[in-house]
Amino acid sequence: MAAPAALRSLRGLNDLSEVVSGALGRESLHLRPFAAFRSRPHEQPGLARPRVAYPKPLERLIAAFERFPGIGRRTAERLAFHVLRDPEAGELAEAIRGASATRRCGQCHNVSESDPCALCSDPARDPATILVVEEPRDVEAVERALAYRGRYHVLLGALNPSMGTEERHLTVRALVARVERGGVREVILATDPDSEGEATAQLVLGALDRARAQLTITRLARGVPAGSALEYLHRGVIEDALKGRVSLRQPGPA
Ligand SMILES: [Zn+2]
Repeated sequence: MAAPAALRSLRGLNDLSEVVSGALGRESLHLRPFAAFRSRPHEQPGLARPRVAYPKPLERLIAAFERFPGIGRRTAERLAFHVLRDPEAGELAEAIRGASATRRCGQCHNVSESDPCALCSDPARDPATILVVEEPRDVEAVERALAYRGRYHVLLGALNPSMGTEERHLTVRALVARVERGGVREVILATDPDSEGEATAQLVLGALDRARAQLTITRLARGVPAGSALEYLHRGVIEDALKGRVSLRQPGPA
């Protein structure tokens, strides 16, 4: 069974770093960049052209790029040739090696240089509120908004059985254990507002309902995004905005 994308990418980084170094180590590729890949003299017209065989280190680099989500063979080849041409590409191998040394925080499961991470060990952040997100990049997004001063919990994916992500791949149990240890008053569900995110939120909600803890569970509000125009919005967004409307004024006493 495939692991969640975030974990897979981290695991693949080490390999890629090695492969980039290997491909760059071949001086001959710099000196004779394309000569080796042109058609060969023994090829006869009318005969099927044999598949171009790249040198092994280059082929490994292409295969390593191909393992990334959304990268096909063509793009992988383009990236690999770019690496060969780029005099600074050695830095890429270094950067990849550095990034693959990144670990996960044992509390919130975010990527971090330390365990616990800087967010979990910041005494100025409220430990009684936990915001639950799918991926580390969601933590970055919320932090950029400068609007939240509680703690986080990263699920490391969203429920998506057809893509191989099931409950056991997510950190739901760790969240329940965190809550059961006490000191948490509110859990805010902030999974993506799509079908996988919705299914994930339901899963977390069910798990927290069974947890031995007194908790308020909330979810991020949905509706009209700031800076948008009503006429261009998807009808689902307008429906959510109507359901989640906010009271501005109640009738006063008669
Ligand atoms: Zn943490």
